[in-house]
Amino acid sequence: SLLYKGEPIHKHFPALQQSVYGKPLVYFDNAATTQKPQAVIQAITDYYSTINSNIHRGVHFLSQKATDAYEITRNAISEFINAAHAYEVIFTKGTTDGINLVADAFGSYGLGPGDSVLISAMEHHSNIVPWQIACEKKGAFLKVIPMNEAGELLMDEYEKLLDDKVKIVSLTYVSNSLGTVNPVKEVIRLAHERNIPVLVDAAQAVQHTKVDVQELDCDFMVFSGHKMYGPTGIGILYGKEEWLNKLPPYQGGGDMIKTVTFEGTEYNDLPFKFEAGTPHIEGAITLLSALDFIKEVGLDNIERHESELLRYATERLSEIPEVKIIGTAGKKAGAISLIVDGAHPYDIGVLLDKMGIAVRTGHHCTQPVMDFYQIPGTLRLSFAVYNTKEEIDLFMTSLKRAIQILI
Ligand code: PMP
Repeated sequence: SLLYKGEPIHKHFPALQQSVYGKPLVYFDNAATTQKPQAVIQAITDYYSTINSNIHRGVHFLSQKATDAYEITRNAISEFINAAHAYEVIFTKGTTDGINLVADAFGSYGLGPGDSVLISAMEHHSNIVPWQIACEKKGAFLKVIPMNEAGELLMDEYEKLLDDKVKIVSLTYVSNSLGTVNPVKEVIRLAHERNIPVLVDAAQAVQHTKVDVQELDCDFMVFSGHKMYGPTGIGILYGKEEWLNKLPPYQGGGDMIKTVTFEGTEYNDLPFKFEAGTPHIEGAITLLSALDFIKEVGLDNIERHESELLRYATERLSEIPEVKIIGTAGKKAGAISLIVDGAHPYDIGVLLDKMGIAVRTGHHCTQPVMDFYQIPGTLRLSFAVYNTKEEIDLFMTSLKRAIQILI
């Protein structure tokens, strides 16, 4: 297992020290949300025990401290994704919130009757529904980049779909249900050749691999704090300055304004224009501890460790003839989906749970992916820094027992 401060990393995660049904907890549902290191939990307590106050408003000591801490995280995130400017980093509630913001604002700004929005066949519902809502309002259409049986995008088809009706492309970096790593840099390059902006959903990317928004040249990127060892309810929208200035605000309220009269309002500068109301101050401030944790472990180490887990689990799963892996792309990260011939994923999930192993079963908010494979759902294992090969061995023994019981 990976080390952190000279100790096996899982020792730094209090939630992983517990037993469930008398069995040591093995947590393989990290794509849904990761557990939190002690440092993040401590930071949350420290925040409410010390500098708790509203930001950007008060002249007083605590408010100044909280404001500074909030902006320090913004700077750290900006560095983490290599944004050109910290004001291109907007705090949101999470990935879903970030996509809704862009879909709503971009819909008002840049969609008209007959236009289209291009997404991919493996999007999370949160990168489908907001665009459907935006399209419906404007008489625009949603179009879909198809994928093959392995769960890889068909890049030739993508190029054919890039006509002059397409106003924006929005796709996931890493599929949460298949684990596919998409060639987002190439997707962006091809879109930019036609002056089409691209939003990248990095909810399943930033915790697994180094992401550089300037190198990718994406126009927007979104992700969630809770999938990267931070708190729930906080997320990030990165947008290029040029785009964030062009788009209208998403929500109106305090903080997003410069002056307000009954005749009209002057909006605030970036990033505040997109941060109406009291934000999740504690979430933003303590996200810094999650970033520090990732930095200290090192994304290179994380990537190496998790891809070894992925390789090992894939290899071991081939021992069971009834198991079929769904999604066999050449490049994968973080997750393995599988089905078992003759047993429903949910039934296996319930039995695994009783053996102390937490997995996710179902459609993973990607119903169109399940429709594509004509299956009701999968059983998904998803990895984080603290998982080990021993846990995969335990999973294999437990899976074999569950299959024996069910078939
Ligand atoms: N996109 C992807 C690829 C995801 O995996 C998820 C979370 N499962 C989301 C979007 C939505 O994230 P959130 O629920 O944190 O808003």
